Amino acid sequence: MTVQALHVSISGVVQGVGFRPFVYNLALRLGLRGWVLNHSGGVDLEVEGPPEALDAFVAALSAEAPPLAQIEALAARAMPTQDFTGFEIRQSERQEGRYQLISPDVATCPDCLREVLDPADRRYHYPFTNCTNCGPRFTIIADIPYDRPNTTMRVFPLCPECQREYDDPSNRRFHAQPNACPACGPHVWLADAAGRPLAGAVQHADPAVLERARDLLLSGRIVAIKGLGGFLLACDATNAEAVRTLRERKRRPHKPFAIMVATLEEANAYCRVSPAEEALLTSPQAPIVLLERRPGSAVVPGLTVVDGVAPNAHTLGVMLPYTPLHHILLRDVGRPLVMTSGNLTEEPIAMENDEALRRLGPLADAFLLHNRGIYSRYDDSVWQVVGLGADGVAQPVRRARGYTPFPIRLPFAVRPILAAGPDLKNTFCLARDEYAFVSQHIGDMENLETLEYLEATLALYRHLFRLEPEEMACDLHPDYATTRFALDRAGQDKAVVRVQHHQAHIAACLADNGWAPGDGAVIGVALDGTGYGHDGAIWGGEWLVGDYTGFRRAARLEYLPLPGGDAAIRHPWRIAAGYVYSLLGPDAVPPWLFHSSPGAESAFYRQIDRQINTPPTSSMGRLFDAVSALLGICHTATYEAQAAIELEQAATGARDLISRAAPYPFGLEEAGDGLMVRLEPLLAALLEEMQRETPVPEIAHRFHVTVAQMIEQVCRQIREQTGIQTVALSGGCFQNRLLLELAVPLLEQAGFRVLLHRQVPCNDGGVSLGQAVMAGFGGQGRND
Ligand SMILES: [Zn+2]
Ligand SMILES: [Zn+2]
Repeated sequence: MTVQALHVSISGVVQGVGFRPFVYNLALRLGLRGWVLNHSGGVDLEVEGPPEALDAFVAALSAEAPPLAQIEALAARAMPTQDFTGFEIRQSERQEGRYQLISPDVATCPDCLREVLDPADRRYHYPFTNCTNCGPRFTIIADIPYDRPNTTMRVFPLCPECQREYDDPSNRRFHAQPNACPACGPHVWLADAAGRPLAGAVQHADPAVLERARDLLLSGRIVAIKGLGGFLLACDATNAEAVRTLRERKRRPHKPFAIMVATLEEANAYCRVSPAEEALLTSPQAPIVLLERRPGSAVVPGLTVVDGVAPNAHTLGVMLPYTPLHHILLRDVGRPLVMTSGNLTEEPIAMENDEALRRLGPLADAFLLHNRGIYSRYDDSVWQVVGLGADGVAQPVRRARGYTPFPIRLPFAVRPILAAGPDLKNTFCLARDEYAFVSQHIGDMENLETLEYLEATLALYRHLFRLEPEEMACDLHPDYATTRFALDRAGQDKAVVRVQHHQAHIAACLADNGWAPGDGAVIGVALDGTGYGHDGAIWGGEWLVGDYTGFRRAARLEYLPLPGGDAAIRHPWRIAAGYVYSLLGPDAVPPWLFHSSPGAESAFYRQIDRQINTPPTSSMGRLFDAVSALLGICHTATYEAQAAIELEQAATGARDLISRAAPYPFGLEEAGDGLMVRLEPLLAALLEEMQRETPVPEIAHRFHVTVAQMIEQVCRQIREQTGIQTVALSGGCFQNRLLLELAVPLLEQAGFRVLLHRQVPCNDGGVSLGQAVMAGFGGQGRND
């Protein structure tokens, strides 16, 4: 019998996902001998046996890989036979400078859930149950290779029974690094806001802990729950008083909360769930999914989700339990729970026990704590499905738990580079070779805590991925904290590429779609709130033409005054008054816009006339703000993009009433340096409609139709000049599902190919990827 031997190297997400046991069992099944090991760069193995069996082995490595494995590269080469006697899993090896991909955290698998809910199982109601198919990964890893001593589980020696599972290749927990049970693993306990124990103890499992937490929640209390990547604040979503208290304490008056429900059936009862949305909810990533609400619905009579959870919204952010602790608690309370990040508005999520007691003490009535350490903060991810095509298009809104640090595959290789990202919804991006490691959602750079979170996460990524940046990228904005961060860190010896915000948005959309440098130039429609332009104005309604080497501004909204600059963003009424005043004169401004600042008119107009702290802006986000305020929907905003989100909600309510809404008029003219959209006809028509007392949802809907038409008409004009047939849509405004559902069919009917975000958010969470690919390609961004 001929015997041959193979050496195989595999890279990708192949550690912490049950890959070595899979290889072991596969080798046994095919009668092959040899070994497999983890090293810093992936998995290596050698096998020998009959040639047919080796062929079957290599084919099965990809075809039958465990569900969470993602093979990026597999190289097999023949080698001399070694006369192996059996098949073994060898000790992991460290190799300096090598890097490997790391699995994100994974929601509890069906097998583990069955054990947790089985009173006869030794892991009945054990909150830290996991196996090679599920459980924490990224949040507990301090170094590679992914082995228990390199995780926060190193302080929990395995008991004999867990050790047996860990050593048994036929067991689901064979080499499951976070393996634990009530006898040897971490525990939960309940404490009051001062940290004094209410139930349970760190030393042993106590079923009374979760019962006590349940009772507190059912009596309307707020409980801070330590989870995978930090603390969540929980309360009864059917209790109006509890929800109101949580809003007051968190200083978050309007921004919608997400809820967690026990099962998919419950999600279906409270909201409409399409097959694509169901797939997201039940995926191993288990993100929050924005679903269309069924008003007044209840699983148990009387237990409806109260309006305070998502005021004035047709949608609800819903997630399913993703740890055993969530599963047990949700089943126990028998109703949906609000689950929101454990932080004060816009601060990073609290992570460790002491930190949580200090920061969340005033917010929570009790703390459900545990003693498994968290190495990296990790917010819940948020996704939505846009109603396009037969199945809809799934898009991330916030990318963290379940997704990072898995990289985006780039269409070209880059030198090691760090992109600092923008100041709002910050992520950073470390890239090397064909991988872009876009960080988890970091947050808004308006406080020191967020900057520290950025620093710590960056240090972890650089260490885990052995990535020393040779080059840096950041925004063009001179006052961004991230710009200073990049310039400070670059020092004398590293180049810093400054990438204009909207160019970064479009480049991110191209990379997101695997657009190769040779695929040609595109028309990039970047519609968002704020981005510093090459002329110092605030951009945000931009049609760009170009590729990774740079873009030119082909069209834009006309410049209008933003009285008060960035501060105006919190006061949509000021934007509305300023826009109407400068386009139609003072008599056209509805006097009630000033109801919150009576008598302020003349000073306000003088500020605009003299251009005092009144930068010009072409922002589409600000146009949405202005229209939202004019329609009386949102006068003052308490969270980012509130006016635009509520305008979309109002318009969505009218969607079924209007079959073919005609657009309002707008102007389009040559402005010397490109096309310019004139907004005077649009605002005049809107005001006229209001005088005719047309219902607000109808006007809101027609406004969306108008913007969709605007996108398409400007793209057609640019196509006439350039011949370009591909349109990339990016920027925060495209988080607006109604706008996408109106604009994309128009563009496609006009013969365009349309690129949408699918892996990173269209909002500023995707900007760091765009900065990295622009800088990485060597394009400096043409200063048109
Ligand atoms: Zn499992
Ligand atoms: Zn154990």
